[in-house]
Amino acid sequence: MSYVGRFAPSPTGPLHFGSLVAALASCCDARSRGGRWLVRIEDVDEPRSQAGAASDILRKLARCGFRWDGEVVVQSARTALYEAALARLVATGLAYPCACTRRELESAPMGAGGERVYPGTCRQGVPPAIAARTQRAWRVRVGEATIHFDDRLQRRCSQALATAVGDFVVKRADGLHAYQLAVVVDDAEQGVTDVVRGFDLCASTPRQIHLQRLLGLPTPAYLHVPVAVDASGEKLSKQTRAAALPEDPLPALVAAWRFLDQPAGAAAPRSVGEFWNHALAAWDAARLPPAAMLPAPPGV
Ligand code: GLU
Repeated sequence: MSYVGRFAPSPTGPLHFGSLVAALASCCDARSRGGRWLVRIEDVDEPRSQAGAASDILRKLARCGFRWDGEVVVQSARTALYEAALARLVATGLAYPCACTRRELESAPMGAGGERVYPGTCRQGVPPAIAARTQRAWRVRVGEATIHFDDRLQRRCSQALATAVGDFVVKRADGLHAYQLAVVVDDAEQGVTDVVRGFDLCASTPRQIHLQRLLGLPTPAYLHVPVAVDASGEKLSKQTRAAALPEDPLPALVAAWRFLDQPAGAAAPRSVGEFWNHALAAWDAARLPPAAMLPAPPGV
């Protein structure tokens, strides 16, 4: 099966060093295997999306010398696909409505990975005491499923869904489909064979594999690269106000390449074009550091 990779940024702010690392790793991995590389804008969480961020990210990617295949897919235009997947889960009783409020769930026990575990309040039907509430989220049953997968870099990962997260949300009470559902539907619909992304999403992978199995969709190969963290150990993100990439992207590209422990060329690249000539020839996934997180280089 020929390789299809993707980069799937959420347009919640400008492209920063952390997202550049994920973009670079996924693109180089795809191209080095003769694969296609897609870009998908993950704006399914509309309230968190920022006006203009998607076009800004695409412009920055192009400036960094990334060339993607085909049209950029935008999640907010694909709700019919997510709704159809949800309908299949509902029809088979694998998803159920939940009337719990976020507030109520704040006191739920914490799972091993630091996420709240859904206590199952609405699993057998919404209890009469809260049935008058009109808003419903939809949750998928996890049962006793323990998911194992072999990450290409981080090796064997296992998660017992019931004790890590419990039945999880696939459609939110505000009517928006959850990231976990959208990403699974899109990866399958776009024929993605290899997911290369930041380690912070490794904890979501078992949920995604669970959904793939329930929906009868193939499971791609996963490779989670280290996440860039700042001096206080926080992931660089829009929330920690990671700096947007500067107009000249070459230093950041070179820094991202080094961050991924990739082989330096004979001479430092003098242009974005030179950088890519070297990167596409020299990419070596076997050299990637198998760490969950690594300090971002200073000044990015
Ligand atoms: N949209 C997610 C993010 O920006 C990435 C999702 C993924 O790669 O699966 O963090």
